[in-house]
Amino acid sequence: MAIWVEVDLCDGCRRCTRACPYDAMEIREGKAYIGERCTSCGACMEVCRSKAIVTDAQPRIIPDFSNYTGAWVFAEQRRGQLQRVSVELLGKAQELAKVLNHKVSAVLIGHEVSDLAKTLIQFGADTVYLVEHETLKEYRTEAYAHVFKELVTEHKPNILLMGATHIGRDLAPRVSRCVGSGLTADCTELSIHPEEGILLQTRPAFGGNVMATIANRFSRPQMATVRPGVMEVIPTPEKEGSVITHVTQLTEEQIGTRILEIVKEPKTHGNLTEAKIIVAGGRGVNDAAGFELLGSLAAALGAELAGTRVAFEEGWIPASRQVGQTGVTVRPDLYIACGISGAIQHRAGMMDSKFIVAINKDPYAPIFKVADWGIVGDLFDVVPELTKQLQAACQ
Ligand code: FAD
Repeated sequence: MAIWVEVDLCDGCRRCTRACPYDAMEIREGKAYIGERCTSCGACMEVCRSKAIVTDAQPRIIPDFSNYTGAWVFAEQRRGQLQRVSVELLGKAQELAKVLNHKVSAVLIGHEVSDLAKTLIQFGADTVYLVEHETLKEYRTEAYAHVFKELVTEHKPNILLMGATHIGRDLAPRVSRCVGSGLTADCTELSIHPEEGILLQTRPAFGGNVMATIANRFSRPQMATVRPGVMEVIPTPEKEGSVITHVTQLTEEQIGTRILEIVKEPKTHGNLTEAKIIVAGGRGVNDAAGFELLGSLAAALGAELAGTRVAFEEGWIPASRQVGQTGVTVRPDLYIACGISGAIQHRAGMMDSKFIVAINKDPYAPIFKVADWGIVGDLFDVVPELTKQLQAACQ
């Protein structure tokens, strides 16, 4: 594909030089000139009023996807326990499907998991595609991806959502590759384009400094992963749905991995994404001893302990307790941020908390912009006093 300037038509207006994201355009002797950095992105052509910039590329034709219908959610279960994120995604899928006048479906894969179908219907699924097989008892990438390929090929969903859990992050790219579709990971918002009816997938980009909205016009299903805790659950207790059993052609020989043993990491904390109260600390907490102060406050409140990326990198909290863009997304009733500046990457994981209390000695700390109550002060004075008063109140 080539792109060039018809110099006779060019009036040297410089609109193209300003529009080029790669600094590849310049004006030479009053005419536009395309330099080596050009990627043929076409931004210059769009702004050229005199139609002086031309290409031999054919416009890409959007295929007809009218036979792709429905918003699907991967119903992730582990050992028969449905993961909450699947129910959250069913909430979002209901909203998306309503705009498109499509149905919501859940894909339930495993062995002896059919009991979960009822729950999926009660949280928004019109249809549950149930795939049960001994080989699917424990999650294995190839096996689950194979099943998804069978289902997608047969039923042609328009949208396919998965939780950005360890399993979802592993499975989604494999499925997208198998079905030849794109994938947007870690979305924080999903909506439908009012005119085009395509899925708009919004996620933080460039280190969280911008929110990028990504759309997929050229393949189906439109696939996205969403982190746990981001979307709201919408119960549908009266709903009646149907279960469609899919018989997979998968055999054990087709799977290149065997599970020899499952070793569970000992669980020392509760689930952060489901916590009602969280006490979180950042660099201002100073060290592990500082986190013990926060631990006492958390114990007095029945709260979970969490922190910023700094707190994790310093080894004061485990990775699973990091809140933010590259950590966990939480939405508790109460989030107490101690010695946290409130960087955008941290706020991305906690700003949907119902009430936020910030304790910071810097009155201009950005965390105060999202806080419902701000305490300007030294956390080493405020936190012990708060703990003392709470303990006294509970006696
Ligand atoms: P600082 O920004 O250093 O803030 C410390 C605060 O403590 C200051 O406001 C200070 O006034 C206050 N303070 C100090 N002493 C006291 C005291 N005695 N009493 C009261 N207040 C005190 N960060 C995350 O948290 N989560 C993420 O998921 C995440 N992902 C990232 C992804 C990318 C791509 C990038 C580039 C960065 C990411 N970060 C993330 C890092 C983020 O940009 C910030 O660097 C980090 O959140 C800052 O942590 P902090 O608030 O603990 O530290």
